[in-house]
Amino acid sequence: MTKYEITDTDRELIRRALLVLEKNFDDGVYNHTVGCALLTRGGSIYTGVNCDGIHGSCAEYITVGAAISAGERELDTIVAVHDKAHNFVLSPCGNCRQMLFEYCPDIKVILNDGEGNLIKVAARDLLPFAWTPVIC
Ligand SMILES: [Zn+2]
Repeated sequence: MTKYEITDTDRELIRRALLVLEKNFDDGVYNHTVGCALLTRGGSIYTGVNCDGIHGSCAEYITVGAAISAGERELDTIVAVHDKAHNFVLSPCGNCRQMLFEYCPDIKVILNDGEGNLIKVAARDLLPFAWTPVIC
């Protein structure tokens, strides 16, 4: 697995994820606990928060959906962060790993290695032997 260097651009992306979470953390009705920021290869940044509900949706889904809806197809880097009280970078859940693999297997994902270090790896490396559509 290739690990990419965390750059100043990555730190800005983390800051943007924290910012969107802070803006939407507790709006009096919903309590959003995860923020996400996505950088496209063209330099645009999209952000989102998780949506609660019966089925809910992860912040990564919301953010990738916003980028795709805007016509973006070349996705570069994504990061999700936990609530402002904890202020740390999350690792994507299994469902999001599959979605990232299907939409953009080469997108770089910034995550916490579980030992307090930030790392950046390609989505395809987060889901070995991923399910792929069968084309008949
Ligand atoms: Zn998820």
